[in-house]
Amino acid sequence: MKFLPVGYNTQDLEKQAKNKWRWQWLSECDSKGMKWTDWLKKIDVCGVAYCTFCGKTINYKSNGKKALKLHCEDGNHQKIANVVKTNSVSSILAI
Ligand SMILES: [Zn+2]
Repeated sequence: MKFLPVGYNTQDLEKQAKNKWRWQWLSECDSKGMKWTDWLKKIDVCGVAYCTFCGKTINYKSNGKKALKLHCEDGNHQKIANVVKTNSVSSILAI
């Protein structure tokens, strides 16, 4: 599994997917104002993205953006998002 760089041409990769990847999705926010770009990564698999918070793949092939939205409003994801938000200052210092 490989993360694709933002703006990468996914046209060939996504040929088989009913809902194709859109880099614009990265500018979306969840209901708490957390940007999708903070956790959402496109991987080199057709119709599948990756959440760096949960360490889980998200299949958006059939439901598109809806599947991603559903994922980021999930209780477990929100719990991790809150931890990341609270720790963001210290984690920046750690880098
Ligand atoms: Zn997640």
